[in-house]
Amino acid sequence: MVSKLTIIRIGHPSLRARSVRVLKSDLKNTEFQKFLDNLASICVNNDGAGIAAPQVGVNKRVIVVHVDPTNPRYPHKKAFPLTIVLNPKIISRSKKMKDDWEGDLSSNIRAVVPRPIKCVVQGINREGQIVRYDLDNDFHARVFQHEIDHLNGIFLLDKVKRKETITEYKEWKKYWKGKKI
Ligand SMILES: [Zn+2]
Repeated sequence: MVSKLTIIRIGHPSLRARSVRVLKSDLKNTEFQKFLDNLASICVNNDGAGIAAPQVGVNKRVIVVHVDPTNPRYPHKKAFPLTIVLNPKIISRSKKMKDDWEGDLSSNIRAVVPRPIKCVVQGINREGQIVRYDLDNDFHARVFQHEIDHLNGIFLLDKVKRKETITEYKEWKKYWKGKKI
């Protein structure tokens, strides 16, 4: 397992692969547990609202979510504590959808992506216990869905309907920030 992690960029085949499930034996492996800590750190250090293991080239079903209202990339969002979920699965989602901006640590791109505003995610934690998240906050639901997509090789651009909103971050700040979408 990689100890010093690097975020890979869009175009890297790992971002397009389907990731494998985490096994009970992985949980007992100290290297794997260390990897989980490193993945959480790299998310926080890069101001991510979340990260998925494939983004560091590890195709295992692991996601990290961390919404911090002081994060400059996603200001004023409702806080969601630093959370690691293994083998996460969306077990239900709302019919109601919402358009909102998404970005990604593997590219400079932002775009408006429609997503269900609520969802329920089930998985296991790093101790192997079943965890379940009823995500009523649309941004929290969005981040979980975005990260779980990574485990299936899906990138945010695949879900963009309004192609004209695809923008690099610098241009987003200049032309789109604060604009009603
Ligand atoms: Zn992403």
